[in-house]
Amino acid sequence: MTRAVLTLNAGSSSLKVALFPAAGDAPLATGIADRIGPEGVLKLVDTAGAPIAAAGDLSGHEGAMAAVIAAFRARWPGLDLLAIGHRVVHGGPDRQVPVTVDAGVLADLEGLSPFAPLHQPHNLAGIRAAMAAFPGVPQVACFDTAFHRGHPFVHDTFALPRALYDEGVRRYGFHGLSYQFIAGELAMRAPALAAGRVVVAHLGNGASMCAISAGRSVASTMGFSALDGLPMGTRTGQVDPGVLLYLMDQKGMTAAQISDLLYRRSGFLGLSGLSNDMRTLEAAGTPAAEEAIGYFIARCQREVAALAADMGGIDALVFCGGIGENSRRIRAGVAGGLAWMGLGLDPDRNAANARCISPDDAKVPVLVIPTNEELVIARAARVAVGLG
Ligand code: ADP
Repeated sequence: MTRAVLTLNAGSSSLKVALFPAAGDAPLATGIADRIGPEGVLKLVDTAGAPIAAAGDLSGHEGAMAAVIAAFRARWPGLDLLAIGHRVVHGGPDRQVPVTVDAGVLADLEGLSPFAPLHQPHNLAGIRAAMAAFPGVPQVACFDTAFHRGHPFVHDTFALPRALYDEGVRRYGFHGLSYQFIAGELAMRAPALAAGRVVVAHLGNGASMCAISAGRSVASTMGFSALDGLPMGTRTGQVDPGVLLYLMDQKGMTAAQISDLLYRRSGFLGLSGLSNDMRTLEAAGTPAAEEAIGYFIARCQREVAALAADMGGIDALVFCGGIGENSRRIRAGVAGGLAWMGLGLDPDRNAANARCISPDDAKVPVLVIPTNEELVIARAARVAVGLG
């Protein structure tokens, strides 16, 4: 019998999965059901990266989930699923830790959908589908906001009338599962740095930074939504709200059109007119692609400095996410431009994608730590069933 926990990350048209054993950090299998709908594709691989045969009805999330489970059961007959952990974007103002989901919790989380309309409903649909498919198996919700919920008021609020803060219009911050993982890794690998003031740059398709002081998040570049802060693949990052008023008043754009603009047509894609993908931009070399890269680096530098100011200084910078873990150019641009703050950069270490990319004597070390949100979810699922 194979005792395991499953992690699910349900998006609008994708379902990312990982199957973890009852103990240990390496997953038994990982995969994604992508482009869920008429052209759905399902890819599962085992620990060694070898494909796991999988097929099924991928026209919806429930079919995709059934196909994943059927493939895992064929591979591990007697699979005993102990718990299922879910990535949920929004836990609201009060949730600081994962929660085992029942009908009441589900209703509570549904009430937060207006705060994250593009993500929360899909996350919850994933939980509902898993509850239906596995009645009796604990479903554990892990929130991207939870790690940030201890922010001081000044980093939790906008200067809006107080009533809006009270009804939940706050700077929540996201990517919390990633930051939790990095904080934990840092505590193991470099406890002295982890006890200090660290800026973590999670740079992927979505991108944000977090100021972590003595292991606790104190500020984040993302705010009420996952739009604020850094520019991203297709999202604007910080934008003057006056622009939105202009688009509504002068161009007659609707909320749906503005949402589409801010979430899907801006960022690297909007600036470059070419792609949302950093690799493509780096290879393109067109003036617009170079400007998009330049804008990203400039905003990253500004946010590192701003978050350092929030902590009264900086003892280390950590890169993670697809861009942070792989793009030598972005790391060199960001860290190199912040040498005045004491950040070090060793070009050879950076070129080698080393874990420490600064010289040994750097005043402020610069590290690269691959993130692992699935493992954070799997650990929470284990804890919920007494295996932690
Ligand atoms: P997500 O936020 O969807 O999880 P990832 O963390 O996988 O995304 O990051 C995707 C981004 O990482 C893309 O912009 C991709 O181009 C970029 N990336 C991945 N590898 C490299 C690389 N070698 N050089 C530059 N960018 C890279």
